[in-house]
Amino acid sequence: VRGRCAHRMTALKDIVTRQISRTGPLTLADYMALCLSHPEHGYYATRDPLGAGGDFTTAPEISQMFGELIGLALAQSWLDQGAPDPFVLCELGPGRGTLMADALRATARVPGFHDALTLHLVETSPALRAEQASRLPGATWHDSVVSLPEAPLFMIANEFFDALPIRQFQRHAKGWQERVVGLKDGAPVLGLTDPAPHEALDHRLADTEPGQIVETCAPAQAIAQEIGRRIAAHGGAALIVDYGDWRSRGDTFQAMYRHKPAEPFDSPGEADLTAHVDFEALAGAAHPAAHSALTPQGVFLEHLGITARAQALARGLGGAALESHVAAHRRLTHPAEMGSLFKVLALFPQDAPPPPGTGLPDPS
Ligand code: SAH
Repeated sequence: VRGRCAHRMTALKDIVTRQISRTGPLTLADYMALCLSHPEHGYYATRDPLGAGGDFTTAPEISQMFGELIGLALAQSWLDQGAPDPFVLCELGPGRGTLMADALRATARVPGFHDALTLHLVETSPALRAEQASRLPGATWHDSVVSLPEAPLFMIANEFFDALPIRQFQRHAKGWQERVVGLKDGAPVLGLTDPAPHEALDHRLADTEPGQIVETCAPAQAIAQEIGRRIAAHGGAALIVDYGDWRSRGDTFQAMYRHKPAEPFDSPGEADLTAHVDFEALAGAAHPAAHSALTPQGVFLEHLGITARAQALARGLGGAALESHVAAHRRLTHPAEMGSLFKVLALFPQDAPPPPGTGLPDPS
């Protein structure tokens, strides 16, 4: 196994260095896309990052309560919108399929919900598609949201948008410098382009100073736009859960290897690469769909009744299982853990109520 790893690392590092010598420095987006999504040697193509010996864990892997409550929130939104039949139940980047399996179990007794749904999963990794197939028989897979059927769309994306390739720009007296990946002594290193004006960033001149960094994520905006268009046209609701904030501020590009922060340029393809999500950009791109207030994950889950659900589950548990259940509840909701770093943004039709657990933004 070590031999295989070493081989893979060399393969992707070679691809990155060869590409830079051929075409010049890569944008961070190009570097991220190569590392994560190279069809043969990319991070997601070669492993299940959530499995035993993986690099990170996620809310649905921490407790079944997460997927259950998400499923019930989507089912309530479906009822609020008159129980459209048929409709698309969709997840973007379903990982091991755990969240959706928990959501389906929890909604089995919502009258008509399962009869009306067809299950669609947007996933590019063959390794994770196989994991998902074992837990979600009967699903249809897509490479992108574009090929989903045109129908009411009820969907969840948990820790999906953080994996999409970002670009970084550093403000300069004469415009912006892009942070790019070049080569030093044959190894990938971060560098800066010459400063130039950048029309798409004009709106950030008011809230940044020279030296500060802003991030953009064109693929995230394109996906939010497509989801927003579908929800406005056909009805539905999207729950987008991730780390990030309202507007991008500073450098949030990060690598995780075996649950520890790592150096993003050291071993291309071996570490998970992510960035914080700019929810303001997603909400803007999703227009004409309406959006909720950006809601901390802990607040969202409390509104949905996680404490009552946790107490009900605790009654059947004792010893170490009870301790780990209590710890999982805390981990999902406590502000010092995932409760406030992670946020929820809901998208829904202008004439429908926001999904349960979220609320309307403050009027401004
Ligand atoms: N939602 C899951 C997994 C999060 S990891 C959970 O909460 O456990 C990110 C997921 O998004 C993985 O399934 C990964 O393969 C998928 N993914 C990453 N980039 C993608 C892209 N461009 N298109 C489709 N899926 C992608």
